[in-house]
Amino acid sequence: MRQPALFLDRDGTINVDLIGNYVLHPDKLQLVPGAATALSEARAAGFKLGVVTNQACIGKGLLTHEGLAKIHEHLEYLVRQEANLDRFHFDDLRYCPHRADEGCACRKPNTGMLEAAIATLNPVLDRSFFIGDKPADLGCANKAGIRSILVLTGYGSETLKEVEAGKCPTPYAVCTNLLEAVRWISEDLRTHQS
Ligand SMILES: [Mg+2]
Ligand SMILES: [Zn+2]
Repeated sequence: MRQPALFLDRDGTINVDLIGNYVLHPDKLQLVPGAATALSEARAAGFKLGVVTNQACIGKGLLTHEGLAKIHEHLEYLVRQEANLDRFHFDDLRYCPHRADEGCACRKPNTGMLEAAIATLNPVLDRSFFIGDKPADLGCANKAGIRSILVLTGYGSETLKEVEAGKCPTPYAVCTNLLEAVRWISEDLRTHQS
């Protein structure tokens, strides 16, 4: 049976955004409180999990693809450790390595990465969501026709001000953090089950 998916922004959604600084080393990774539990619960509830992250630090020469792969291995390790799981891997994890000035199709709010993730995971789209903390996340989800959830971690509080000022797309829901988002989504799907 085809599963729904959660498409997830990384910095400020799963791990703590180092506001103004890139995560350039595994040691700098710190999960948002409750994020490991959120991912574990989402997996148990039958969601496929895809990460869609802008990492212009590569295009700026601050990090290599290999360095980023190590950071992502460590991210999955932290989830296993904090959620007490024997195994945990994202079903799909992709990043845009380009700088904003390169004009690529993958950097959020463009939809290249999200569309590739959708093609790979082939989820039930009307039961799938995109969770992120920035206007680019909401814009990307909106353009791809996926319902968005704004979390208030990372830049989320700033983004909410932009939403309220009509400067970026309105999310389907606003949640405190990833754990609340996953629980809100599960409840929403339960109440709207056909
Ligand atoms: Mg973010
Ligand atoms: Zn790109």
